Amino acid sequence: MDRYYWGVDLGGTKIECAVMCRETDTCVVRERVPTEGDLGYRHVLDNIRLLIDKCAEKVGEYPSRIGFGTPGTLDPQTGVMKNCNSTHLNGQPLDKDLRIMLDCEVVLANDANCFALAEAELGAVKQQVPDAKVVFGIILGTGVGGGLVVNGQLIGGHHGIGGEWGHNRLACEDAVDCYCGRQGCVETVISGPALERFYRNLAGESLSLKEIAIKAAQGDGYACHTINHLIERFGEAMASVINVIDPDAIVIGGGVGNIDALYQFGPSAIEKYLFNPVFSAKLLKPELGDSAGVFGAARLVK
Ligand SMILES: [Zn+2]
Repeated sequence: MDRYYWGVDLGGTKIECAVMCRETDTCVVRERVPTEGDLGYRHVLDNIRLLIDKCAEKVGEYPSRIGFGTPGTLDPQTGVMKNCNSTHLNGQPLDKDLRIMLDCEVVLANDANCFALAEAELGAVKQQVPDAKVVFGIILGTGVGGGLVVNGQLIGGHHGIGGEWGHNRLACEDAVDCYCGRQGCVETVISGPALERFYRNLAGESLSLKEIAIKAAQGDGYACHTINHLIERFGEAMASVINVIDPDAIVIGGGVGNIDALYQFGPSAIEKYLFNPVFSAKLLKPELGDSAGVFGAARLVK
């Protein structure tokens, strides 16, 4: 058995590797290199190899398995990457190419799934709800995504879209077009940009979500209305997921997840739409910060 388990977070601007101690779950080496995606797919692969070699030299052990967090998803049906905002990856058989190049087993998952796995197994859930069996980790930021972890394992699903609640439809009269080609997706209503647009339409001025939250705390009417809108629609969107998976804990990452009112008033908003008289699972703030991506990637192969 290897002494360490390895994860790589493949980001748009940097590629990061973490080598974790199997016994203590602590990170023993962490290194990063630039992605340089504009130089093409092959160049990115070369950068990954350099990074792995550098880390292997530091720990004195070459990995037999590596977990990779990726910006999009490997489609289990077609075997190639899809939905990557780092577009050089789309259409590429990334897992196959990595396996051949690195001569080791690789496991891929998208970054929302890695976030969910890291917070479930090493972060907020591990600390606060240690006996949780079903965990839903969500990213509520510029985009809206999520990952489902059951008994320590990610549920990727038949199409690799397990946990993608951001493109469920919310009932609304003024549904907005989503980049996915549909209308009224959760992402078009409660993502950071969607909330900033909501405020702008009300108040006639552009503010960041952070500024809106500060104004709301000071009692500004339009800002309060925007935050109330977030909480109400979050409750509605979340309840439809909870009715299906009934998680023990929900971790909320991304910029919108920093809004304290979500934790205070979110549970009662969920209750209004839930097929159960009360909502008693935990809504948690993440604890791993920027490390969640790379730790979650490593956790894929522990
Ligand atoms: Zn959509």
